[in-house]
Amino acid sequence: MTKNSKIYVAGHRGMVGSAILRRLQSAGYINLVTRTHAELDLIDQAAVSGFMQKEMPDYIFLAAAKVGGIQANNTYRADFIYQNMMVQANIVQAAYRAGVERLLFLGSSCIYPRDCPQPIREEYLLSGPLEQTNEPYAIAKIAGVKLCESYNRQYGTAYVSAMPTNLYGPNDHYDLNNSHVLPALIRKTYEAKQRADTQLVVWGSGKPRREFMYVDDMADACVFLMESKVRDGLFNVGLGTDVTIRELALTIMEVAGFTGDVIFDASKPDGTPRKLLSVDLLKALGWEAKTDLRTGIERTYRDYLETVSHADR
Ligand code: GDP
Repeated sequence: MTKNSKIYVAGHRGMVGSAILRRLQSAGYINLVTRTHAELDLIDQAAVSGFMQKEMPDYIFLAAAKVGGIQANNTYRADFIYQNMMVQANIVQAAYRAGVERLLFLGSSCIYPRDCPQPIREEYLLSGPLEQTNEPYAIAKIAGVKLCESYNRQYGTAYVSAMPTNLYGPNDHYDLNNSHVLPALIRKTYEAKQRADTQLVVWGSGKPRREFMYVDDMADACVFLMESKVRDGLFNVGLGTDVTIRELALTIMEVAGFTGDVIFDASKPDGTPRKLLSVDLLKALGWEAKTDLRTGIERTYRDYLETVSHADR
């Protein structure tokens, strides 16, 4: 990539896409292409094809996706599989036809089998059954990985896939029911503190283990991969360490200064027991995450407070 390369960031208003855009801008890339959802509906094949023929980007970061937490995935199962399959198929095919040589497809660690050995290596893909709560989303993302791989094999393109662990940071969704655990607990803890509650309710048993990465580290890894010589394959992006949901809740409570107790709602699902990525492949290429969980949560909490105070004005 040169500083003048034309780079399309699909999904630039989302948490990951906006972080990639910030990262590219700060590195001096000047020829960036974006479209809002209102300007371009990525589910519309003809519109995507027309856009790509007109813009003819050199590089694409495919960060547009329908995403959500355990309950959203489990409830809107049709939306998750349909929208994600359409968006990625439209973009990859249109990219190929427009002569785009390099594309980075973003997925998620939930593509791996539910009970696979930990830490999860890239080669465990399709080695066993998936977790049921997010199977439709995972199947769509697996199709995306295979889409890239197949275009590379048949057409000689360089479409690479990056599979991040659970991400958090600025521009996340803070919905009480439909967001991921970290933003959901930030909001719940903030609101519990505001109401002077004595308890914070956390879903499930608190025992599942998850790995959480600050989104700016993900953006850094994405640009690193795009700037590298890598032309094919699947790369996990994570920190290499995880915590229990209980530990996560306690850290958020500490950062937020909430002194109540944590209690667990066993009527909610736990999901996968553990999801820790092996990051050996990316490490071997020379990349490592920089932000530890506590620092990332402190930054994110500050950002959340700003968002809340803006919303109140
Ligand atoms: P997952 O990583 O795909 O399972 O998705 P989530 O980030 O939504 O959930 C991770 C874990 O956090 C699950 O075990 C949830 O039961 C647990 N959890 C605890 N409290 C919450 C909450 O308020 N919201 C969400 N989404 N998950 C929670």
